[in-house]
Amino acid sequence: MRTIPHWINGQEVAPTSGNFGPVFNPATGEQQAQVGLASIDEMNTAIATAKAAFPAWRATSLSRRSEILFRFRELVVANRDEIARLVSIEHGKVPSDAAGELARGIENIEFSCGIPTHMKGGFSEQVSGGIDVYSIKQPLGVVAGITPFNFPAMVPLWMFTNGIATGNTFILKPSEKDPSVTMFMATLLKEAGLPDGVFNIVNGDKVAVDAILNHPDIAAVSFVGSTPIAQYIYATGTANGKRVQALGGAKNHMVVLPDADINMAADASVSAGFGSAGERCMAISVVVAVGNVAEPLIEAIAARIPALKVGPGTDPINEMGPLITGEHRDKVASYIAGAAGEGATVVIDGREGSLPEKGYFLNPSLLDNVRPGMKVYDEEIFGPVLSVIRVDTYEEAVALINDHQYGNGTAIFTRDGGAARQFQFDIQVGMVGINVPIPVPVGYYSFGGWKSSIFGDANIYGPAGIEFYTHTKTVTSRWPDPATSSVDLGFPQTR
Ligand code: NAD
Repeated sequence: MRTIPHWINGQEVAPTSGNFGPVFNPATGEQQAQVGLASIDEMNTAIATAKAAFPAWRATSLSRRSEILFRFRELVVANRDEIARLVSIEHGKVPSDAAGELARGIENIEFSCGIPTHMKGGFSEQVSGGIDVYSIKQPLGVVAGITPFNFPAMVPLWMFTNGIATGNTFILKPSEKDPSVTMFMATLLKEAGLPDGVFNIVNGDKVAVDAILNHPDIAAVSFVGSTPIAQYIYATGTANGKRVQALGGAKNHMVVLPDADINMAADASVSAGFGSAGERCMAISVVVAVGNVAEPLIEAIAARIPALKVGPGTDPINEMGPLITGEHRDKVASYIAGAAGEGATVVIDGREGSLPEKGYFLNPSLLDNVRPGMKVYDEEIFGPVLSVIRVDTYEEAVALINDHQYGNGTAIFTRDGGAARQFQFDIQVGMVGINVPIPVPVGYYSFGGWKSSIFGDANIYGPAGIEFYTHTKTVTSRWPDPATSSVDLGFPQTR
């Protein structure tokens, strides 16, 4: 059995805890590797390595850091097929979807290549006689990232690109379900010229995460994962004096107004509902059909679903792969099983129909007449289940979304610019799409939901990422003429 090690100080380090986690191929259900689950001691070693690498790295010129990131970008692009393959065999998403995830992750590398510009501070000349004030951004020290299984390439890139570009050294704790892609990216960072110890990967589970949260030398933690764990990371990390951004789960609504193009809205809801088997935090999981749009829209969605090709990514014909584990597949199936009893109409049951014999597959499901109070509506399912809620008015649609515990992404489909503008104004959600079903911001904006989809004030990547990974230091400076010096006990004045 292949063992996936850690990456510390620029090299693979064999696990020593004696604990391992299985890494499956979700498309076959076979275990293909085991990953070392770090002990507290192993984590402490990595943190000590990152701490030792920090002084030289923060003193490395911005141009040099930028040069390394440019080279890393070129290496990632040159190896994009291999990266997509690694994502696909451990996560299960089809290679074209894996390539899409990587393309969005590359935006984050490209943004971080501009670090000399992003690290610019402010300068005010002559705030008082002969006195200037300027602010500078400085790195925090050793920072950590803890990432989910569902974007094993992109989400780590959201974090460590800006994390290291700003001059910090980094500990990544990837999902133990699909760690190989970041292990491969670590070799590319080294090849790009990143000094040893600046980027480290410690594989593990809760033990490793807790070791990060409790270690005094970790200055900041970025987390992306489910809401209960995000809440725990935020509470524990901040109680230990760390800066924490913790992004959680989601339930994303797509409002379809009566004037929308039905075919366009149906294409969008099927693509955004079932892409990556619904295992995206920005997946559309609820279609809110306003007024008389419901019947034709449900008909159009239902007509598209049987055409979706479900199966392993090794066959390029397939559009939707398996779920991540057998346990998760069964959990998603239990939501479908309970839906009718809650009063929903099961239009298409994804547990039926032909499926590959091996692997954790489920066909797409469509539920109608879903309402608040039902588990299928209130909870994040994180699988290929699309619910439809029927409402009479735009106001009801907005109230529904604003009342939901999650506020990650949302979308509106309409031809009415005024209605879309009003939606953008009214809606209590962090990322809004207007005729765009998955509005993940580009790498030079920042990503973040509202409500239970995020804990902490800082959004992730882009300009917010630069802020998150830096302290601001403000310098008040005077180069006086000794002839003007005198003792004055009054509080310094500017006028
Ligand atoms: P998860 O919360 O189970 O795991 C995320 C990370 O936390 C992993 O590295 C895992 O090892 C660690 N972890 C798990 N249990 C822990 C515990 N008890 N204590 C400490 N650490 C623990 O999430 P997942 O299943 O890997 O990912 C899916 C979830 O992530 C979904 O809820 C999805 O919505 C969310 N997600 C959110 C975003 C976003 O940007 N808001 C993006 C991607 C995924």
